[in-house]
Amino acid sequence: MAGLITRFAPSPTGPLHLGHAFSALTAWDLAKGGSFLLRIEDIDRPRCKPEHKAAILDDLRWLGLDWPAPVMCQSARMAHYAAALDQLAAMGLTYRCTCTRSDIRAALSAPQEGAPLIGPDGPVYPGTCREAGHDTVDAAIRLDMRKALHQAGAFAFTETGPLYPGRHGPSDMTETVGDIVLARRDIGTSYHLSVVVDDAAQGITLVTRGTDLFEATPIHVLLQRLLGLPTPLYHHHRLIRDENGKRLAKRDDARALARYRAEGATPIDIRAMLGL
Ligand code: GLU
Repeated sequence: MAGLITRFAPSPTGPLHLGHAFSALTAWDLAKGGSFLLRIEDIDRPRCKPEHKAAILDDLRWLGLDWPAPVMCQSARMAHYAAALDQLAAMGLTYRCTCTRSDIRAALSAPQEGAPLIGPDGPVYPGTCREAGHDTVDAAIRLDMRKALHQAGAFAFTETGPLYPGRHGPSDMTETVGDIVLARRDIGTSYHLSVVVDDAAQGITLVTRGTDLFEATPIHVLLQRLLGLPTPLYHHHRLIRDENGKRLAKRDDARALARYRAEGATPIDIRAMLGL
């Protein structure tokens, strides 16, 4: 569609496999007549490797894709995430959290808590540090979900993919999502914050990604509202699974694109395998 801007946003933590190829090709096909952008999501420095990034670019070019240079890399954009975080803090919507994973597990297993709810980021945080007023820098920064929802007012997003087409409003996010981490203590940002800041910075009008991230989308739309950023359209596509129905993982080298390439497959074969 003319004017449409979409993107493929891989994390360079391993080789591209068929699932990534499906995501990249879906975005590429949707961008026909518009723009296809690439973004390297490498905020998790210890897990992201330059050789994976180079291999990703090589695999994507081999598939026949191209994109404008320079490629946006999240590791170079920390100041932008810090600014967004400051904006949310100035609105009184954040707090510092010193809980470790095991603190959270222990709090959630207290008898009065019942079975923990599982949100898009795992067990819903019980709010232990919400009123604690910690000021140590050695802490994660969380969003106070109740205050954030109050501040944002009503919101919804439009899904254009085939799986859940239509308008979607959030369910009760204080219950189902809770006080998400906006900045991890080790990396100073989070997937949610950086993806929202960067989709806006790249002028993305259609977010194309796997359906595993559908549950995270209300979080992103909420952050867009709070930060005064536009909400794009969304297209969540099906996931590619192995013959046992298991979702392909990065460590699943058997389905790495590089392996198919080495065995003589062509990009047309890859498309056929993916049902594209
Ligand atoms: N970097 C994420 C991943 O590789 C994708 C994020 C997104 O498309 O919003 O799973």
